[in-house]
Amino acid sequence: MKRILITGGAGFIGSHLCERLLKEGNDIICLDNYFTGSKKNIAHLMDNPYFELVRHDITEPYYAEVDQIYNLACPASPVHYQYNPIKTTKTSVMGSINLLGLAKRINARILQASTSEVYGDPEIHPQTEDYWGNVNPIGIRSCYDEGKRCAETLFMDYHTQNHVAIKIVRIFNTYGPNMHPNDGRVVSNFIVQALKGEDITLFGDGLQTRSFQYVDDLVEGMIRMMNSRKEFIGPVNIGNPNEFTILELAKKVIKLTNSNSKLIHLPLPKDDPTQRQPNISLAKKELNNWEPKIQLNEGLLRTISYFDNLLSNQATH
Ligand code: NAD
Ligand code: UDP
Ligand code: UDP
Repeated sequence: MKRILITGGAGFIGSHLCERLLKEGNDIICLDNYFTGSKKNIAHLMDNPYFELVRHDITEPYYAEVDQIYNLACPASPVHYQYNPIKTTKTSVMGSINLLGLAKRINARILQASTSEVYGDPEIHPQTEDYWGNVNPIGIRSCYDEGKRCAETLFMDYHTQNHVAIKIVRIFNTYGPNMHPNDGRVVSNFIVQALKGEDITLFGDGLQTRSFQYVDDLVEGMIRMMNSRKEFIGPVNIGNPNEFTILELAKKVIKLTNSNSKLIHLPLPKDDPTQRQPNISLAKKELNNWEPKIQLNEGLLRTISYFDNLLSNQATH
């Protein structure tokens, strides 16, 4: 049994990580300030004596004794991270400093949830870890992208200067149950719109691409990375290389939900990357042949079923 701190544990990905690591017999501290996360995501874990929920903001120092730290705290949807961009940068930068200071003091292993956004609007395709990225430092996405890039710098420097045992994963677009219905990201938006029979909001011509992974595949990759050999610190891409256009995604969601929703076009947000696909050779090599197992149709069906239940419950309450 390990003592594990998960920051952002009440969020979409964090809640799945809490559940899985608890099931494997670990002692979990789930830390969150509930900016985008919700107690509902982890309510079913509260009866377990090995699960502890802490309300805390990682821009403030935090003290605990644990073996491992997964740092996921940070809003991830453009709508939310742009709501208070200064706070978003503080969360990535000051939050990382506090957690790295904690890891240093207690000699814990610490994993950073970085992002494919460090590649910005990429000029090489698919993206490999040695690509430095094409990021606008002063645009509307910068608080997130540059905050995460600075967090990677801090992780590397705490490793080099203070010998902290770090791990960095660059997560590509992920979807699944526990995404907030008003999260603003494309998969939850399209599914909720389709289930409600509302218009499906395509930004731009819909020909921009993304590669979506189901959350269980990501959680498996993150746990393998945390427990990989000490010398392998990353960064490593964790994503599903299956790339498609947002228009294709919209059509698939309409089909799988049997919806009458129509497609409408809204303006493309500024600095929206035109294409994205991970090269996952490094993850396969270093993480015991890790690769995504759940393909789009299956993952979408599970997510649709989650939102369907959520919306029917909302309707009856
Ligand atoms: P999410 O918004 O559902 O979860 C983030 C959690 O962090 C929320 O529970 C939120 O309340 C909490 N949080 C935010 N600021 C905080 C602060 N200052 N102190 C304490 N808690 C705070 O998003 P998610 O999709 O679960 O993302 C989790 C992590 O994975 C994030 O760091 C995100 O950048 C990264 N990531 C996600 C994706 C994706 O596609 N979902 C892709 C790349 C990277
Ligand atoms: N910190 C923390 N918990 C700890 C130890 C440190 O939150 O258990 C914070 C502390 O606020 C500090 C930051 O981590 O500002 C960085 O710590 P470090 O030891 O690297 O630097 P310093 O203490 O010199 O600022
Ligand atoms: N998008 C869209 N309609 C929506 C939400 C998003 O067409 O209702 C597009 C968005 O412009 C982007 C892609 O879908 O090109 C993925 O957006 P998301 O916010 O999910 O993730 P990110 O842009 O951070 O990869």
